[in-house]
Amino acid sequence: MTKKVFIDDTTLRDGEQTAGVVFTNEEKITIAKMLDAIGVHQIEAGIPAMGGDEKEAICAIMDLGLKASIIAWNRPVISDIKTSLECGVKAVALSISTSDIHIQHKLRQTRKWVLDNIRTATEFAKNNGLYVSVNGEDASRADQDFLAEYALAAKEAGADRLRYCDTVGVMDPFITYNRISRLIDKTSLEVEMHTHNDFGMATANSLAGVRAGATYVNTTINGLGERAGNACLEEVVMAMKCIVGTDLGIDTTKFRELSEYVARASHRSLPPSKPITGSNVFTYESQGRAEGVLTDTASYEVFSPEDVGLERRLIIGKYSGVACVQAKLAQYRYFLPFEEASRFLPLLQSRSIDLKRALYDEEVLELYESKVAGGRKWKF
Ligand code: MN
Repeated sequence: MTKKVFIDDTTLRDGEQTAGVVFTNEEKITIAKMLDAIGVHQIEAGIPAMGGDEKEAICAIMDLGLKASIIAWNRPVISDIKTSLECGVKAVALSISTSDIHIQHKLRQTRKWVLDNIRTATEFAKNNGLYVSVNGEDASRADQDFLAEYALAAKEAGADRLRYCDTVGVMDPFITYNRISRLIDKTSLEVEMHTHNDFGMATANSLAGVRAGATYVNTTINGLGERAGNACLEEVVMAMKCIVGTDLGIDTTKFRELSEYVARASHRSLPPSKPITGSNVFTYESQGRAEGVLTDTASYEVFSPEDVGLERRLIIGKYSGVACVQAKLAQYRYFLPFEEASRFLPLLQSRSIDLKRALYDEEVLELYESKVAGGRKWKF
């Protein structure tokens, strides 16, 4: 009953399409190697038809001989597919708009034109031995009956799957579930979810699609991507594992490293609160939580920091409790009895309030040295 679910990561294509982001070819190669090393099943490496550096990077990634399938993005245009073939890829995504708003205003064409083009391009790609994903760009705003017609036309021409693109990120998980279920019922075509995060629902929508039977999820590292970004690789994989209970077979212990690398390469800092790999995900300050975790990590943790390459951190600040102060000092091999720790705590708290932030360990130790261990200025 449970179908295998694959990750098709598009950090190198939709991720790089983020306004203002450019990866060097060296960075692209590093990202492709890292994705392959952790077991990502497919990597969307770019758009060969752009030529120049872009095409070179794709060829160079092909030369790495990775285990992951490399898929190239194309318009349903014969010359695009020929350029993909020159790079040596074995899989192509053929992308065309499926919503009337795009067909009429962006393409200035008709639905029939769209169907004719996808048929011709798919047949050409299949005749050249390629795996074909047909992308329904703006599928979420398309007439869903027409989308099914599009999928069936592509399937008849030999397409292997349909990428359902929520291009402007306007679905919610309930809509997604209903639509993907119906589409699979109607077409029996494999479906890939491509969701954008404009309303913060990219990951949720991808999961809803999977629940409805989709077998591929198109992700990006750090959720990079146009506007508010795409479904985030780390979120999708960990949510599948921890919430859905399906292990996608990806080594998640390198997630933080991957996140940091892509943050640097994209000049986009990683917010501390970023789900899964943010530096705050396993950082504890407030008394209840910190003490809970000190007693049993499961009290506030659904997975362990090591699972994603993070570390558990305890910081001292306004919301800290006595046990946290003791634990923090114990990290530096100081033992402070409960009574003294209780008297020390308000000093730490008021320093934190003055500074409007938590204290660095050095600051805690400095205060400890001067107020407790030193004893000279110690008064309550
Ligand atoms: Mn996109």
